[in-house]
Amino acid sequence: MDVQAVLLHSRPGKDGEPTEGNFELSEVELPSVLAAGCVVVRTLCLSVDPYMRCRMNADTGTDYLRSWELGKAIEGGGVGLIEQSKFQGFVPGDIVCSFSWPWQLRSTLPGASLNKVDPAIVGGHLSHFLGAVGMPGLTAFLGIREKGHIRQNANQTVLVSGAAGACGHLAGQIARLDGATTVVGICGSEEKCRVLVEELGFDGAINYKKKNVEAELQSCCPRGIDVYFDNVGGDISNSVIRQMNEGGHIVLCGQISQYNKDVPYPPPLPNDIEQVLHQRNITRERFLVLHYQERFAESIAQLAAWLTDGKLKVRETVVHGLSKAGAAFVSMMRGGNIGKQIVTIADL
Ligand code: NAP
Repeated sequence: MDVQAVLLHSRPGKDGEPTEGNFELSEVELPSVLAAGCVVVRTLCLSVDPYMRCRMNADTGTDYLRSWELGKAIEGGGVGLIEQSKFQGFVPGDIVCSFSWPWQLRSTLPGASLNKVDPAIVGGHLSHFLGAVGMPGLTAFLGIREKGHIRQNANQTVLVSGAAGACGHLAGQIARLDGATTVVGICGSEEKCRVLVEELGFDGAINYKKKNVEAELQSCCPRGIDVYFDNVGGDISNSVIRQMNEGGHIVLCGQISQYNKDVPYPPPLPNDIEQVLHQRNITRERFLVLHYQERFAESIAQLAAWLTDGKLKVRETVVHGLSKAGAAFVSMMRGGNIGKQIVTIADL
């Protein structure tokens, strides 16, 4: 049986911006006989994420991510429904997710590559398994908990860059739940600033495309910055670090402003910024959520409880259809999303 799929058509080059033309809607053939240990899944929703940008390169520059192959289906985070199973433990009707889900309407996958999820923990909102209780939620939660050093009643100011995105909008709220006194976000539009302050409880928000970040930081963070959840790197981060306090902590989550450039990860800091880190004893350790898999179950339980209690608010930007997946990725890389960018493929 042939099924619709999105393939990698071309690479943008390490120094290039990805475009819709890098993706191609096509068909792939599913095996006619289901092998032992495998399942047939129907795709329900897909995730587009910044890390995918390095999978577009022939060399990803990391040992934990494989390059996507030209002419082969894209893969990333996905959620779907088991339709047929020759894998012990899954039966038709189960909902499963994976970090390596092909961008296809249906797929044949090894059952062992999938995790069963319970839709009840997200009130049936399956895309949350790609967002608030998925990789971005875990990244926000574990990043804050492992590297943020937030303490109750310590009067700390937390600054989040990429603040209106999947990780950022959750990280700011989690910082507050963990005890931060002041939470400020930097993001790329007035609407994003409005959402952060009016809907998500941030104390301030700075539109880096319109405002002088350095000057705005001084007025939004008059006591300096104690914890910086860094999603973007580059000039924005340099401005933030200059205003960090002695003994501060940086959660080095991501550096999206550098992903379309041929630079190593993490990209080197300018000398004067390195000096600020050194002189003020500021920590900046690399954080990778995959290193904390033993803590995923307890973290998901906490995130789901906060969702249920209404303590954690979730924003998503949703497009529908496999044919829109490439465009959704390109849009997310350019800031088109508020909250988690999701591609829905089919309803249950
Ligand atoms: P996201 O924030 O939902 O989407 C990306 C956002 O980045 C865009 O909406 C855009 O928002 C912003 N952006 C794009 N180009 C930019 C630039 N040149 N300067 C500043 N901002 C820019 O994505 P996400 O999934 O939450 O990921 C956020 C960061 O976390 C990424 O760096 C990602 O690599 C990282 N991450 C790390 C881990 C880990 O384990 N360490 C896990 C997941 C994600 P604006 O409108 O604000 O520009």
